[in-house]
Amino acid sequence: MRPFRYERATDPAGAVALLARSPQAAYLGGGTNLVDLMKLDVARPDLLVDVRGVTSRAIEELPDGGVRIGAGVSNSDLAADPLIRRRYPVVAQAVLAGASTQLRNLATVGGNLLQRTRCVYFQDVSTACNKREPGSGCSAIEGHNRDLAILGTSPDCIATHPSDLAVALAAMDATVQTVGPDGSRAIPLTELHRLPGSEPQHDNVLTHGELITAVDLPPLPFAARSYYRKIRDRASYAFALVSVAAAIDLADGQVRDVRIALGGVAHKPWRATRAEDLLRGGPATEERLRRAAEAELADAQPQSDNAFKIPLARNAIVRTVLDLTGTAR
Ligand code: SF4
Repeated sequence: MRPFRYERATDPAGAVALLARSPQAAYLGGGTNLVDLMKLDVARPDLLVDVRGVTSRAIEELPDGGVRIGAGVSNSDLAADPLIRRRYPVVAQAVLAGASTQLRNLATVGGNLLQRTRCVYFQDVSTACNKREPGSGCSAIEGHNRDLAILGTSPDCIATHPSDLAVALAAMDATVQTVGPDGSRAIPLTELHRLPGSEPQHDNVLTHGELITAVDLPPLPFAARSYYRKIRDRASYAFALVSVAAAIDLADGQVRDVRIALGGVAHKPWRATRAEDLLRGGPATEERLRRAAEAELADAQPQSDNAFKIPLARNAIVRTVLDLTGTAR
């Protein structure tokens, strides 16, 4: 690991000021992803600004009936919180589907959202990778790409975003609160992460020094009927091949509202708005669900080894929503 300086911030403004000291500086939360990448020589910060005492560790109700999750809340505390488990079970399920107990104890909500792709070439500094070294090429396109993206890819990068939590939050219409050199702002979760385009080195829209302080969940009564399904090569401690976060509001057998987001298929959590639009206003039958899922995946562009993700994602959408309606066979 390369040498680096370490500073401990005491409040958000101080953290932002400390980070501004170097363009290579990085915030340190739980460190579960960043420190690994430093050991691999993928991340090379010259200054770590420890924000563990800065960002809130509270989960609290908002006046509008929503819930605010402090960015410093550990993944374990988030998954165990009674309010989250009752009102947004999909969020607790997604967190518990990721990592190990030890990692969840350390990892924070803010860090979870900003973890980097697990593309094997990104983590191997001896290979070409546009995300790690812009302009060097993408080893995955002609290489091992079974785990990688089928939606929203570019000729420069086909990586996936690894966070389970982000998929659940995308389905719930969460908003990310930040503070940075230009003040504070609120970013819809679905707009936090980017598609790769020609600049895959940028995972998200945050500017240098911008710190996630909280995540807000809006009041969404039907979220109490929500579910996270994760399909992976082994039952634990593995990233999603495909995952689905879904919630549905049924009235007289008709879909009044529905939320669907996919993980493991794109450079960002993939909100399935096309499928949602097709489902609203009609019955949640298997046939309608299948048509909606097929429409959502119509633009999928598989790589040499991952065409299986298209039927996997389609079937996962259908099964997950049918499970929520109680009509799965
Ligand atoms: Fe790098 Fe993206 Fe290509 Fe993986 S898919 S090698 S992260 S550019």
